[in-house]
Amino acid sequence: MKTVIIGGGAAGMLAAVAAAQSGDEVVLLEKNEKLGKKIFITGKGRCNVTNACDKDSFFEHVVSNPKFLYSAYSAFDNRSLMKLIEENGTALKTERGERVFPVSDHSYDIIDALKNAVKKAGAKIRLNTCVSDIITRKYEETDSEENTGGEGKKKESGKYTSKIVGVKLSTGEMILADKVILATGGISYPSTGSTGDGHRFAERTGHKIVPLKPALVPMDTKEDWVRGLQGLSLKNVRLSLYADGKCLFSEQGEMLFTHFGISGPLVLTASSMLAKEDAYKKCEAVIDLKPALSEKEFDERLIRELNEGNRKEFKNILKNIYPLKLAALICDITGIDPYKKCNEINKEERRKLLSFTKNMRITVLGTRDFNEAIITHGGVSVKDVNPKTMESRKVKGLYFAGELLDVDAFTGGFNLQIAFSTGFLAGRSADA
Ligand code: FAD
Repeated sequence: MKTVIIGGGAAGMLAAVAAAQSGDEVVLLEKNEKLGKKIFITGKGRCNVTNACDKDSFFEHVVSNPKFLYSAYSAFDNRSLMKLIEENGTALKTERGERVFPVSDHSYDIIDALKNAVKKAGAKIRLNTCVSDIITRKYEETDSEENTGGEGKKKESGKYTSKIVGVKLSTGEMILADKVILATGGISYPSTGSTGDGHRFAERTGHKIVPLKPALVPMDTKEDWVRGLQGLSLKNVRLSLYADGKCLFSEQGEMLFTHFGISGPLVLTASSMLAKEDAYKKCEAVIDLKPALSEKEFDERLIRELNEGNRKEFKNILKNIYPLKLAALICDITGIDPYKKCNEINKEERRKLLSFTKNMRITVLGTRDFNEAIITHGGVSVKDVNPKTMESRKVKGLYFAGELLDVDAFTGGFNLQIAFSTGFLAGRSADA
């Protein structure tokens, strides 16, 4: 059995390991000069390779189509991955939020462990090898007879429109194969090699592509004053995101102001919920700067500060309440005279401060593009893929794995785990 895998990222490498361990003759094709170019930049160069959480928590962190991943995760979960990496020479550690990293804090140690595993399993690696298309032929009744492997198999084969024959390289060379695994990634950070080739191959062979959108990505905002806060990082604030008045997300945590708008962990997570929305006219981020205080408690605090400030200029007490950068801008934003004496600040002005502090409203124009997105939302529709094997329901012998599929998760090591789990299952099933 000859298995060709297109793409030497997380999914492709695990597919190569699993297929070669199953006894296939495996060729892993990667268009870059090295394997795992995207893994290299993950986790800010440290690679948050998985999450050590339990199974339920894993699925809670999957944003799109968690149920589709049940079989893949059962076949190869976070424990199996950690074992494989450690057995191949890279020690791991678990940090806050159950995030797993290499002890060395170097992503290249994860890539080395995966490369070791691929080589040990006996898969052949061809670098600088770009696949320009997959080759299929019409599915014949005889294919069905050849491949019947029990009732379940018969049912599947009834739906195939074509059968895999092999792949064509950009040089014109053809490689014949019984099985082809597409593991070409999403379209985020295209400089790493994930440029959507696999989506094109899949679409051309009759697979539905759920529209691709950037996810885990910063957001562009409208108000000028937001840019004035560039560099300000806020901890323990609540961010709520609304699209046409519907609340998509509301959580407490960290965020950051940038030269174009907002970013940081809360914003990235919220962007994944926004990617799920088909269309919206108006999107708004509402920030509660003091979520630990009720409106009444905040007003009382303000009155206390103003009383203590007494004859001081209002601008001089703001740093007691807000971070410096915000304190410097808050009078501009709310229109309160900074030189007013504290004891002259009236009820209406206090109301403005309260409203800004508990409900800072920012108009979201949209997300940044794929060049800045950690993950691609959308991809090959899971309806066209058998979740028990990762095989296409349209093309016999074609398998899918990794970010190319319409699955994505929040940050924390979940997206790499999805790539590894689906890659492993596709590789193992490719032996069927
Ligand atoms: P990829 O890793 O993109 O691999 C696809 C491979 O296919 C590429 O090497 C590409 O060159 C190759 N290829 C494409 N087309 C062809 C072709 N025609 N012929 C031959 N080869 C081809 N996830 C986490 O879980 N933890 C993190 O810490 C984390 N950090 C991230 C940080 C950044 C900046 C980014 C962008 C992503 C991060 N992710 C993280 C997400 C994670 O990296 C991806 O979800 C994961 O790498 C997807 O793996 P993949 O194998 O499906 O695709």
